[in-house]
Formats: sequence, C-alpha cells, structure tokens
Amino acid sequence: MARNFRTLDDLNDIRGKRVLVREDLNVPMADGSVTDDTRLRAAVPTIAELSDKGAIVLVLAHFGRPKGKPDPSMSLALVTKPYAAVLGRPVRYIDWEGDEVAVATLQPGDVAVLENTRFFGGEEKNDPEVVERFAKLGDLYVNDAFSAAHRAHASTEGLARRLPAYAGRAMEAELDALDKALGAPEHPVAAVVGGAKVSTKLGVLRHLVARVDHLIIGGGMANTFLAARGVNVGKSLCEHDLTGTADEIMEAADRAGCTVHLPYDAVVATEFRANPPTRTVNVHEVGADEMILDVGPAAVESLGDALKTCRTLVWNGPLGAFETEPFDTATVALARTAAALTQDGSLVSVAGGGDTVAALNHAGVADAFSFVSTAGGAFLEWMEGRELPGVAALAR
Ligand code: ADP
Ligand code: MG
Repeated sequence: MARNFRTLDDLNDIRGKRVLVREDLNVPMADGSVTDDTRLRAAVPTIAELSDKGAIVLVLAHFGRPKGKPDPSMSLALVTKPYAAVLGRPVRYIDWEGDEVAVATLQPGDVAVLENTRFFGGEEKNDPEVVERFAKLGDLYVNDAFSAAHRAHASTEGLARRLPAYAGRAMEAELDALDKALGAPEHPVAAVVGGAKVSTKLGVLRHLVARVDHLIIGGGMANTFLAARGVNVGKSLCEHDLTGTADEIMEAADRAGCTVHLPYDAVVATEFRANPPTRTVNVHEVGADEMILDVGPAAVESLGDALKTCRTLVWNGPLGAFETEPFDTATVALARTAAALTQDGSLVSVAGGGDTVAALNHAGVADAFSFVSTAGGAFLEWMEGRELPGVAALAR
C-alpha cells in the first residue's frame, strides 16, 4: 500500500537520539488505580521498540482537562507507575520544572514520561512557543496517538511540523486499518451506522452514502429515517425535525447506487427498562404508546445475508439500546455474524465509537474483528471524511 507517512521502519541509527513520542495515556482512574489499561497497552510496542534501539524515549501525553495550568489531580505522575508495570521496564517521570536538566541525565534506552502537556495553556492552541518548549527536548518526533490526531495541538500537529516526524506502531496500524475500510476498500462495502441520534452523525451518513454499497441504519436514528418514510414510530426516540435531512440522505444514496437498509421489523416496549414486556412487530404496527428499542429478528437475519455478500464492513453505533436487556439482541447477533465472516477471511471488519466498542466487547467479538478503534472523536471525524490535522502533519 502506498503510504504517505514515515514509520519507525524509516528510523535508522537512533542510538542516543532523543525521541519525543506522543502517546494517549488518558486512562480512566478510580481511587488511584487505572480501571481500563487499553491505552497503556497500546502505547507499549512503539516505546519498547525505540528503547530497544537505544533511543532516549520521552513520552508526551495529556491527562484529563486541566485548563492550561498545573493540577496535581491530573498529573501524569499518577500514570507513570501503572504504565511502567504494563511496559515491563522502568519509566522515569519528569516534571515541567527542570525538565531540560532531567532529560540530559537520561541514558540510551531510558524511557521517561513528561508531565501533562495540557498544563500549558498553549498546548490546545498549538502555540508556537509551546511547540518550541517541547521541541528543544528532542531530536525526532513520533506520533502514536491517533485518538488525539483530530486536534491541531502543540504536541500533535505543531511538533510534527517542527521536527522530523514519524508514525508510531499504533498510529500506523490504525491508519492502515482505516485505509483498508474506507480509503481503498475491497467492494462491496457495507457500513453499519447506529446509535441514538441522526443529528450526531449527519456528517458520517453524508460521507458514507457516496462510498459504500450498503448503508445499514439502525439504533434510534433509524426511527428518524422510518418517520421520513411515513412510518408511525410511536414514542420512539426520533428527531422529527430531521426527516427532511433523512430524505436527502436517502436520495443521495439512490443517486450513488448505495442501498439503504432500514429495519422492517422491530422490538418494541412501552417502558424503557431491563426485561419489560416486549412485542416483535412489523415497523408499520408500532403502537402510539410504544418505543422501538431494537431491530427485529427478521431484519437482522437479512442484514447478515447482506454482509455475506460484502468484502468490507465499517461499523459505528449499536443497532439497539444494547445496555438494557433484551435490546442488545440485534447488535450481538449482527456483530457475531460479522465476526464469523471475518474469521472465515471473507470480510475485513473495522469498528469504532465508544458505545460500539462496549457493544462488541459485550458480544464477545471485539478480538474477532479485523480492527476495533478506541479513538472515539478521531474515529468519527475520519468516518466523516475529514482530514485529521495530526495525521496530515505526518505526510512526507
Ligand atoms: P458510539 O458511541 O459507538 O458512537 P452512539 O453514542 O452514537 O454510539 O450511540 C449509542 C447509544 O445509542 C447507546 O446508548 C444506545 O442505548 C442508544 N440507542 C441505540 N438504539 C436505540 C433506540 N432504538 N432507542 C434509544 N436509544 C438507542
Ligand atoms: Mg457514544
């Protein structure tokens, strides 16, 4: 594949070189412990490889939203020990006071985590002075944090333009997976777009209709599309003011030769809670006091059949209110079909989005997908076809 960015493969002879590496160490914590170390694990391959090659590795990351000034509750000192444990080698912590002196004491192969980049107000403003502040500590720059690449910050975009810049291994894997899914995918391509609201995913829907062969719409947002087609969706979550927009998207899909799949049956209830009385009905039979909370079994089966004809799948958003049983059924069933097709080698499957990742984990199939992005906002902006400044700045 033609890549327009450099990777660690292009870095030779880096023994003793100071390499600034942007990672995502923004992990959730409770009572002083990390509650989900996914991001710490993602930050291992690049750092270990650079350290093994004898570089002096300086990790840059943000942690929380400290509003441009030091805040001990958001100090990366809290993350250094858990990160060292995951990395399996010692990690120094370096404060923004006396950092130059501290960095000068490091030896080839040493790894240090620098303090929260957002303790500088200029970080999020991509202030050239903050870029300089960071740049003087290093000789080279590696960006390994795709999840932060949708923002032009000093430690993401600024440094990439100031120092020789490379993609880290996690960034490289993410960009390659995304390229396979939407950049230069094998057709037919299916997209599943679900979740709560059309309004949060207009950009995604508009971008996808011109690129995919099958657009599968589920979740609460399907209700808006159904309403646009004249279906009475009762008390369902529905953005009635967006039915015109839904029509436009369906017309754009028609023009582009993209088949839009809306559910034709649904699981409905009058109360939104775990295991209430439910009915499985044709979407034209939803009662005035009922809510559509999941895609129905007949529709799920035909969606699975559609996936069997496809080579590529990109998925964002659950098909139903999957956090509440039994409204996880359709999401779990389609996720398992996609996972099986992936394991058979007939489908490349890429998924992303906070709730989507949770849903795939709930279905027990996250590892069976080709790639699952935990990047959240950056993943959605990429699905909208937007250029991510942190990625654009890595271009050769
Ligand atoms: P992601 O975080 O993966 O981008 P979203 O945040 O867009 O996904 O959507 C996830 C939310 O959509 C979940 O909380 C889920 O309960 C909700 N949802 C899905 N289907 C429905 C529905 N039919 N009615 C109400 N909420 C729904
Ligand atoms: Mg969400």
